[in-house]
Amino acid sequence: DRPHGKSKINHDQLKQILLDTPSSQKAEEWSRYYTAGPHLAGKNLSQAVWTKDKWESWGINSLINTYDVYINYPVDHRLALLQRQDGDEDGKEAWEVTYEASLTEDVLEEDPTSGLEDGVPTFHGYSASGNVTAPVVYVNYGTYQDFEDLLGANITLKGKIAIARYGGIFRGLKVKRAQELGMIGVILYSDPGDDGDVTDEKGVAAYPEGPARQPSSVQRGSTQFLSVAPGDPTTPGYPSKPGVPRQPVHTAIPSIPSIPISYTDALPILKALNGHGPKAEDFNQWWTRSTGLQYKGVHYNIGPTPDDVVVNLYNEQDYVTTPLWNVIGIINGTIPDEVIVVGNHRDAWVAGGAGDPNSGSAVFNEVIRSFGQALELGWKPLRTIVLASWDGEEYGLVGSTEWVEEYLPWLSNANVAYVNTDVGVRGKRLSCSAAPLLHDLIYSATAAVASPNQTTEGQSVYDVWDKRISTMGSGSDFTAFQDFAGIPSVDIGFNSDRESAVYHYHSNYDSFHWMEKYGDPGFVYHRTMAQVLGLIVAQLSDLPVIPFGAEDYTNALGEYVNKVEDKLDAALSPQTILSAMEIDNEAMFDMRASHRNTSTLSTNSHSDKHPPAAALKFKTSLKRLHKALQDLKEQAVELDTRASDLSRTVKEHIPWWKWLTKLKLYRQIRKVNTKYKFLERSFLYEEGLDGRSWFKHVVFAPGLWTGYSGAVFPGLVESIDSEDWTNAQRWVDIIESRIYNAARKLE
Ligand code: GLU
Ligand code: CA
Ligand code: ZN
Ligand code: ZN
Repeated sequence: DRPHGKSKINHDQLKQILLDTPSSQKAEEWSRYYTAGPHLAGKNLSQAVWTKDKWESWGINSLINTYDVYINYPVDHRLALLQRQDGDEDGKEAWEVTYEASLTEDVLEEDPTSGLEDGVPTFHGYSASGNVTAPVVYVNYGTYQDFEDLLGANITLKGKIAIARYGGIFRGLKVKRAQELGMIGVILYSDPGDDGDVTDEKGVAAYPEGPARQPSSVQRGSTQFLSVAPGDPTTPGYPSKPGVPRQPVHTAIPSIPSIPISYTDALPILKALNGHGPKAEDFNQWWTRSTGLQYKGVHYNIGPTPDDVVVNLYNEQDYVTTPLWNVIGIINGTIPDEVIVVGNHRDAWVAGGAGDPNSGSAVFNEVIRSFGQALELGWKPLRTIVLASWDGEEYGLVGSTEWVEEYLPWLSNANVAYVNTDVGVRGKRLSCSAAPLLHDLIYSATAAVASPNQTTEGQSVYDVWDKRISTMGSGSDFTAFQDFAGIPSVDIGFNSDRESAVYHYHSNYDSFHWMEKYGDPGFVYHRTMAQVLGLIVAQLSDLPVIPFGAEDYTNALGEYVNKVEDKLDAALSPQTILSAMEIDNEAMFDMRASHRNTSTLSTNSHSDKHPPAAALKFKTSLKRLHKALQDLKEQAVELDTRASDLSRTVKEHIPWWKWLTKLKLYRQIRKVNTKYKFLERSFLYEEGLDGRSWFKHVVFAPGLWTGYSGAVFPGLVESIDSEDWTNAQRWVDIIESRIYNAARKLE
């Protein structure tokens, strides 16, 4: 059953094609197309068809893959501040509207897509319909710890409406915690202080004149709870095919209404809080970090507002079960059961979406066009490459999750790696999260691409990068691959930094105009990202020996165990107060925070008792994980050594595909590749994580209360947080057996 891929193009030639083909002009052209009209999930069929046609014109067989999914579209909303007037003669209450929020983003002459008539209203994906009126409480970022601080200060939350600033954690978790604490509505606003150093407070002009935040800009976005499962909330674990049974949604999405607003609309509400309740500064630094509206007269009081000052929040959503469309392209490889999947989402909240996701979509098209070019020149890929333009990412990773759920048996058997780009470009700073197996190949791919930002001539993307690779959390389409199917994944893009122009995330001003003027003038970073992605995919799909680092994985696991030990020590030491302060500035800004900041939001702020015996026993048992890792490491080193020996042998063959015809060598390589392919899968645990059984990976998961940033060994970390030492012990056993299981498979 040996394949005979007589490729006319060798690996070096393929790499050259993938470096030479992507063009800034083309990327700009695709960006212009994708940013020219609304493309909400379930409403973007014309863009799906266009994408499919383009891919086919580049020689890639493509199809449209559809699911029937449960999502909401906005119908109506209102947000107003009301003040009670003295009763009239009948003693009846009268309320005066002191502020009626506009809930719209300004139409800017300079920015044509900001004024489209069929633009998408400001709303939250999966938000609940409702009409509530109550006093309001300022809850800072609305993190778990923020709410703990409020409870600690005896602030009444029950029956009130929360106003929280965006940032720090996934927005759906803000709504989730507010709901759990009996709050009846949530307002989320974008505080300009959180945008980095580019703020109009410092005299920087606002978009479109300058790079500061446009005051009417609103961040739309999903408020699904994520902690249960991503994807269609009515079909957790199985694909949303027409006619399938549907589950109740109350644990997966909010039942209280929420609404996103601009800081212009937030100002009167925040000012109404002035003088009521404690101030943010009475808590701790975390509460005052980067607040940006003092100079507009906001004192950041917590509230609640008195009973005669209330907010009316009205939100009406239409829930439908509607088709959505993934576009799937296939480049058939010579080896049948080694598949690389590469994806990017196509749906956007707004008409533009020049950064999210269309910088990624434009880049993705350039990668596909480049592979088409290689095919035309006679390249025969070794492994099959599946290309996916996902729909419904914004609502909750819906298109990708349903697809992984549908094709799980095949993917489990054949999928070697998943490569994701979401926002491909919004600035100049490379940002990456990935499974440790892939770290090395990411480094070598970035080292082969010239940086547009050279301080010394000849610098590569790798050279100018801080080389930090975060662990996988969530927030984009890699989640089902990594956490549900156990497929090593990477997510990569050029991010912004504190000095960049404000990126108007999920706002009308994430537009072509913004991208052209501030984000990536000349689309040079688009081209660079296409080159980086192309080389990552080329290494995965075209090198005879899969370029994974098994030893890197083992080393990373050792570090993660160290981190758990540190966390445990901190939890057991009486002085320690773990708090959300641990989310540092940089991480806060980079929403997909690095792994340095994962073990946050502890629920047990401190314990002044002596550590219980069970905790100490647990601490000792963690040593077993180090021991198991030693065993795994031996196997891993052996595998990596075998792999590099084989790679060397293969290089001696000319023409390069000749190795495929050497039966013995072919079999040796297949054996090594199969071990690499299944290594990540060894860390899946069928019963899943505590309270969220969809998440099967024992090493990586979105943080329970962060969403975006990842947790490592979530079973251990969460048990420590809840001081459940029996469960902690259980997780040591589970993880230990996963590690030995992995080691035996590598033998
Ligand atoms: N990327 C989207 C967001 O951050 C969706 C994430 C999700 O629903 O998990 O809003
Ligand atoms: Ca599903
Ligand atoms: Zn996105
Ligand atoms: Zn998005």
